[in-house]
Amino acid sequence: MELGLKGRTAIVCAASAGLGRGCAEALAREGVNLVLNARTPGPLEAAAAAIAKETGVTVIPVAADVATAEGRAALLAACPNPDILINNAGGPPPGDFRDWEREDWIKAVDQNMITPILLIKGVVDGMIERKFGRIVNITSSAVKSPLGILGLSNGARTGLTGFVAGLARQVAEHNVTINNLLPGPFDTNRLRSNIASMAKQRGVAAEVVEAERRNANPTKRFGQPEEFGAACAFLCSTRAGYIVGQNILLDGGYFNSTF
Ligand code: NAP
Repeated sequence: MELGLKGRTAIVCAASAGLGRGCAEALAREGVNLVLNARTPGPLEAAAAAIAKETGVTVIPVAADVATAEGRAALLAACPNPDILINNAGGPPPGDFRDWEREDWIKAVDQNMITPILLIKGVVDGMIERKFGRIVNITSSAVKSPLGILGLSNGARTGLTGFVAGLARQVAEHNVTINNLLPGPFDTNRLRSNIASMAKQRGVAAEVVEAERRNANPTKRFGQPEEFGAACAFLCSTRAGYIVGQNILLDGGYFNSTF
């Protein structure tokens, strides 16, 4: 299928590894030029060079913390008029809500709710003027099916989801779509560190928790970032203009429901 994305430009946040990188690679393979972001310059530059070499698109690395005003300004300065914005950042730490103070909540809400909203604010009016825009927020299956130890994530991401539900319907008439992709267990560093925390909490080996989680999934495996990226590229395509304000669960069927 021709996705109609050749020559477009995208800002992909938090994308030197994991799901963000999966999205960046999938977009680049469709001919999208990228502004690629992560905090640590070395791995970011290596990812940018690898993607550019493989696909031939222009990849501009911007090393910055997307959860800071300076970081967001640097991204928007590198690409003031993107056609596509992929919002992503690290997830908040797991734990027990009794241990979290106000500052912990502010940090989670800042990173996983306010940061994507401010980036949307920075790009959406230009998209409306140009009559094309695709915004995809990487959230979590925890929005639909909470995990007890990820309370900060459950809370902050659900706030973003509520905001996006309203805004998506206000901008859709201009061919600007906003949707959320909800990852279940994908084989990334973040998943491995969550598994390690669960194992520690239960006093068992990480391999035990990992095997349990694989076996509990209908696919008997974890998702691959490439699979996540493919879904993201489709949502960004000219073909997906009628998909508006949706929360699309990519979890191998783990969430058990008929609809
Ligand atoms: P990952 O493999 O740990 O990759 C995270 C990427 O984001 C890295 O490139 C990292 O590079 C960058 N990053 C982290 N914080 C950043 C920040 N503040 N500013 C800029 N870049 C930042 O994580 P992942 O599994 O892809 O997860 C992506 C998102 O999906 C997270 O919010 C995670 O909670 C969520 N999620 C993941 C899963 C899963 O199973 N993998 C499931 C549900 C939800 P630097 O460290 O160099 O900045």
